[in-house]
Amino acid sequence: MGITRQDLTIDIGPIPPMRVKVAVMNHVTESSCSIHIAHDVDVVVVGSGAGGVATAVAAARQGASTVLIEKYGSVGGCMTTGGWAAGALDLAPLAPHQFLVAEGESHQTAPEAHWISPLGLSEIPTDTHEYLRGCGLAGEWMARMFDMIETSGPCPNFSNWAERIRYLFNQMLEEAGVIQMLQSYACDPIIENKNSVRGVYVQTVSGRCAVRAKVTIDATANASLSQRAGAPTVPCNREPSMNISIGIGGADQVKFDAFMQERTGTTMWDFDQTVRARQKTSDWPDPWIDEKVIPNINEFVARRFGAHLNRLRPMGDLFRRAYEENGYEAVGWVGDIGRVITLWPWPWQGEAGVVSTRADIDGDVDTLNADHMTMVEHDVRRYVFQTVRFYRKYCPGFENAYVLYLSPYIGTRGGRAIEAEYIVTKQDLIDATRHDDVIHQTYDLRVISNFTDIPFRQLLPKHVEGLLAVGVAAHQKPPNLRYREVVLTMGQAAGIAAAICARQDISPRQLEIKQLQRVLHESGVNLGEPQRVAKLLT
Ligand SMILES: Cc1cc2nc3c(=O)[nH]c(=O)nc-3n(C[C@H](O)[C@H](O)[C@H](O)COP(=O)(O)OP(=O)(O)OC[C@H]3O[C@@H](n4cnc5c(N)ncnc54)[C@H](O)[C@@H]3O)c2cc1C
Repeated sequence: MGITRQDLTIDIGPIPPMRVKVAVMNHVTESSCSIHIAHDVDVVVVGSGAGGVATAVAAARQGASTVLIEKYGSVGGCMTTGGWAAGALDLAPLAPHQFLVAEGESHQTAPEAHWISPLGLSEIPTDTHEYLRGCGLAGEWMARMFDMIETSGPCPNFSNWAERIRYLFNQMLEEAGVIQMLQSYACDPIIENKNSVRGVYVQTVSGRCAVRAKVTIDATANASLSQRAGAPTVPCNREPSMNISIGIGGADQVKFDAFMQERTGTTMWDFDQTVRARQKTSDWPDPWIDEKVIPNINEFVARRFGAHLNRLRPMGDLFRRAYEENGYEAVGWVGDIGRVITLWPWPWQGEAGVVSTRADIDGDVDTLNADHMTMVEHDVRRYVFQTVRFYRKYCPGFENAYVLYLSPYIGTRGGRAIEAEYIVTKQDLIDATRHDDVIHQTYDLRVISNFTDIPFRQLLPKHVEGLLAVGVAAHQKPPNLRYREVVLTMGQAAGIAAAICARQDISPRQLEIKQLQRVLHESGVNLGEPQRVAKLLT
């Protein structure tokens, strides 16, 4: 079986001459060729982060033959290969009546009730855990993470948590019968009738192949597939909000804590709480940080780095010495397009001797620009090594420290996304906007506490048929609609929708939303107030 690909002219663009060794012209013409169809299925999902996995599982559970394609060697995206399994899980959007302690109460007023950190999973009461099992795919996933404590013990550190997530995602994919294609890069959509996506061309170690599908899902976190299909994307260039996860070994926690206590007059925990609460101001004015470091960063990035910059203050004099002696900059550079900062010091979590942290990257980084992404990968890793050298030389407790790991994948919270048929805005969250095509109700807990509707149209790229996007690829930031439970639920909705569309041989744009909403509601997804939901479903 084979399909014929039209001649393709590749623009290799503004790559500097030193890298173009053979080409004199700046174009090559790729010849027509027949490409083997590796799979011909109902649904193909590109990208295996939380969004892609949830989509694939949900589609397959609905009986759709489903392929999941991932460019790395295993599934999980920024929570596994990206190493950032830390952070927290918010239960409230799964079932507000259950997890908000009192009517009208929000994350800001009752955080401990439902905002759980991975290392604290074992503290969830058993009845909560059982309740979660019925809250859609996101709730089921959390309950099953909890189950793992029975078999694997409490989670000791972030790396172990990432491996557990990977294991569970794999288990769910296998149970559902999803076909996985790993180490496989989905490079282009297969386009029929000008704008209808019918699967993807995939580059694998065995060569190039095609996966044909009735519905295709872009779960790439940068909307690359949608863009190549001709759908418009929103840039969000100035807020890629990327990160690399870092493990530092050989650290002496007791010694470093004592050093910090001496400098701040408080514990690491209290220091961190103060720093977070104040964001911009601080009890620790420091001439080097205030007069040299911060003015040297553009205003927007300085605002993004907020509390991270304040964490540097108790060690301002050391950063100054390191700069004068070795040229080390506490806030590093990503080429001339972005800046990078390590989140440290903060309270130690997990095993003694290991610091689990991350470096955040922001600036004018375009997640769909190959040169930008090369710069990010290269410069950020170099900066982390320089930073660990700084700690070894200047900070008591870090004399024997070393880089234990750096995540292979650099996760992104912002960056490119589809220009969806409807983009939920900050104002929507303030107004608690309602939509008849609601697929989930959630809030942006960093800004406002109203619950608002995520409409199905948020997953629909403009001008293209047969394609849906989920997760970070379907999320224009701000507001923050990329929390794990939202991404997993978006995925569940996209998977069910894709399966229905494949069955009925229609494009997602033609889907009768009620059919999707019924399945979501039956699985326990929060679609809002019960009376309104009853009305929507009739
Ligand atoms: C630093 C950081 C902190 C966070 N903290 C929290 C928190 O505390 N609480 C919370 O709820 N959420 C948090 N999040 C958000 C949440 O983890 C993410 O939004 C979510 O996991 C993203 O899932 P995704 O599937 O959209 O993208 P990703 O996980 O990034 O997955 C995208 C996948 O697509 C693959 N891919 C891309 N292009 C291709 C291609 N062409 N072919 C094949 N594969 C491809 C990538 O390799 C990757 O595996 C955080 C995120 C970050 C980065």
